[in-house]
Amino acid sequence: MSTTSDYERMLRSAALRVTAPRVAVLAAVHDHPHSDTDSILGRVRQTLGAVSHQAVYDVLRALTAAGLIRRIQPMGSVARYETRVGDNHHHLVCRSCAAIVDVDCSVGAAPCLTASNDNGFVLDEAEVIYWGLCPECAQQTHP
Ligand SMILES: [Zn+2]
Ligand SMILES: [Zn+2]
Repeated sequence: MSTTSDYERMLRSAALRVTAPRVAVLAAVHDHPHSDTDSILGRVRQTLGAVSHQAVYDVLRALTAAGLIRRIQPMGSVARYETRVGDNHHHLVCRSCAAIVDVDCSVGAAPCLTASNDNGFVLDEAEVIYWGLCPECAQQTHP
């Protein structure tokens, strides 16, 4: 469970000025991983009142650039944000209802994530999205 002071500490550790919108966005993303911009905006407005879409967009960009939040964008989806950063975890995405679930990084267990030929690139991330049906949707398809 994170508190306001945790978010303030995260901002300072990333050399970002502590502002109410930044704290509110961090809290909203932390409490609801894989949220899109509109739902983050809705939650920030519940906390702070009137906040412009542009302000939240700017905060999301600053937090992403600082590495405090991670932006993912599965094909066919709008951008989504999460505070679980730095562990190169992957995502399960449901083709039917677009549910998104975290899954730990497979490095070490799945040889396909070690590029068979890195072509001289210095690799620091393998972005993997596992597509399929979540349990609820699979149940509906194959009752
Ligand atoms: Zn589903
Ligand atoms: Zn995630």
